[in-house]
Amino acid sequence: MHLPCPHCQHPLTPGATSCPGCGTSLLREATPGGSEPTCAFHPHRVSLAICDRCGSFACAECLRLNSRREVVCQRCHALDQDAPLPWDRREELGTFTAWWKTVVHVMLHPDTFPTLRPQGSAGGSLLFTLLCSLPTSFMMGLLYLGLFAFLPSRLAEEFREDTVQGWMGPFMFAFCMIAGPLFSLASTVIFAGLDHLVLMLGGVNRGFQVTFRAHALSQAPWVLGLVPCVGIYVAPVWALVARAFAYHGLHRTTWGVALAGSLLTPLLSCCMCGGAYLFMFNLMRGLT
Ligand SMILES: [Zn+2]
Ligand SMILES: [Zn+2]
Ligand SMILES: [Zn+2]
Repeated sequence: MHLPCPHCQHPLTPGATSCPGCGTSLLREATPGGSEPTCAFHPHRVSLAICDRCGSFACAECLRLNSRREVVCQRCHALDQDAPLPWDRREELGTFTAWWKTVVHVMLHPDTFPTLRPQGSAGGSLLFTLLCSLPTSFMMGLLYLGLFAFLPSRLAEEFREDTVQGWMGPFMFAFCMIAGPLFSLASTVIFAGLDHLVLMLGGVNRGFQVTFRAHALSQAPWVLGLVPCVGIYVAPVWALVARAFAYHGLHRTTWGVALAGSLLTPLLSCCMCGGAYLFMFNLMRGLT
């Protein structure tokens, strides 16, 4: 970004109508029939700079700084801030294609969050969360199905009794496919709520819907749950990174606030769970 005052070369903030250095008004009327370029939106004003995106002439009032720190015209700024994700076009693309394209986009281009549409319906965010939870639930279900399919004969030999019933594998599979998504939906609502409290303390002024959407979108990396063994360890870390990017971009907040919003709740809940485990462990030791 480089926008100097035409009078004193003092650096200007795009959108300011007077220079903070020399105080001169930056809104200058064009002389009729003059050769100076005029603003594309205010033809009676002399242009101050050219938009870095579309090349239009723009007056001081029409200039903005975008998320990439480029000086752009107000029209490009407005377009730039509201790019829909494939997920927002799911009626046209089909739910699965829209979901898959969004997953890839969030995982590979999290730096584009500042240009994305911050608002989305709560139902849409819940559906996205649900779809992201299916791969992991499916793999967990398969794991149990396999365990119960191959273990019974050996277990039966060891315990000399038929403790493992044939229906347990399919039952556990169905249980995972139902409980996994339900758990995911419930935890998304709760954790997005807690994250939103942290973000509000950090001064964000956009609503819970934006946090909820960011939280849902950042679950895209859970598609890695399909990769046996490794995926389940990589996914949560990748999701946390994506969440920091999503909070930073969709709330247009600082990195400090975005990191606090994405990390504080998981860290605190880990500490609380760890504390509870330690407490139980000590209690059990005390009892024996
Ligand atoms: Zn000046
Ligand atoms: Zn422009
Ligand atoms: Zn203008």
